[in-house]
Amino acid sequence: MVPPGPLTMPAVVIDHVSKTFRGVSALHQITLEMAKGEFLALLGPSGCGKSTLLRIIAGLERQSTGRVLIGRSDVSRLPTYDRGVAMVFHDDSMFPHMTLGENIGFGLRIARFTTAQIKRRVEQVAALLQIESSLDHRPETLSGGERLRAAIARALAVEPSVLLLDEPLLHLDPLERLEMRAELKSCLARTGITTFYATNDQAEAMGMADRVAVMQAGHIMQVATPGELYRHPACRFVAGLVGAPPMNLLTLDAPIGIVWLGALNLAAPASGAVVLGIRPEDLVLATPDTGFAFRVRVVEQLGSHVILTGETVGQKMRVVLPEAPDARPGSEIHLRPLPGRMVWMDAETGVALAA
Ligand code: ADP
Ligand code: MG
Repeated sequence: MVPPGPLTMPAVVIDHVSKTFRGVSALHQITLEMAKGEFLALLGPSGCGKSTLLRIIAGLERQSTGRVLIGRSDVSRLPTYDRGVAMVFHDDSMFPHMTLGENIGFGLRIARFTTAQIKRRVEQVAALLQIESSLDHRPETLSGGERLRAAIARALAVEPSVLLLDEPLLHLDPLERLEMRAELKSCLARTGITTFYATNDQAEAMGMADRVAVMQAGHIMQVATPGELYRHPACRFVAGLVGAPPMNLLTLDAPIGIVWLGALNLAAPASGAVVLGIRPEDLVLATPDTGFAFRVRVVEQLGSHVILTGETVGQKMRVVLPEAPDARPGSEIHLRPLPGRMVWMDAETGVALAA
């Protein structure tokens, strides 16, 4: 066994952090450990507490209870500038009267680095974010994507040990978002910086992060790798949040641990009402003998695949198929779930059951 040493020491520990605003709970007993260089996405709908958690890590907000450790130190009572963190918001603004380069070097000037040191460091981070050619420009001349790169360069210039990004791609158009997603991921991987990334976009979280912490109403519902979240959601909320189109969630009765889905018998891991989770892409075409009936309502031909929306056992269902020549609005087709791809959940609690 490897003894715990500097390599296994977590870079950041959030230890039972709670936050209440005037009696209203915004964060509830948040506990997380981050390895050095790890990229963790905080994923959840607006109001679930992502920004509050980032602000607490940054020291811009004080937690009601719990501790934040960075490296070996409890930073809970330290001011922001002593924590070694840098935060970037989607609406981060630059000083309009300074060039991009001056903006990026601003924090270094405050910290009294020499002009030569500042120049070297600004050029370094500008190269990393591919904005070298814009260093002499004024912020107002930049595109949304360039402004974001500049904000991240400015954050990285002071060499923080932890980077906090709060929905940084929010104001970019869809194509710019897609490009920045990949670029940001590779650029941050090169710096090896420990990163928290708040977003309500599941594709962003899944595509960029090493691990994703799914949040709902101030609680962490699951922390796992994107692959694990996708295949083994811990509960109904995670199942419905991750993946696009979202997982189908059918509420079914399992009187003796078996559910009948049309002609198909499925062994449910519980008796009583269960929720069957099955991803649209985990259904395949079948015959009346081997599958269950699906009434087609809408056919969306997307070129690379077809999305069918319709009903099974009176409940809404979506299917993603490579092609579906027989599917027309109003027609009935038969489908079969791929083995090993179903997720069973307790209908009452929403908690996943061991299949
Ligand atoms: P998110 O970033 O996930 O959208 P926030 O962290 O901004 O969520 O907010 C979490 C909850 O805390 C929300 O209910 C929000 O209204 C509340 N909240 C956040 N900041 C304050 C504040 N300064 N005063 C009162 N309530 C706040
Ligand atoms: Mg927020």
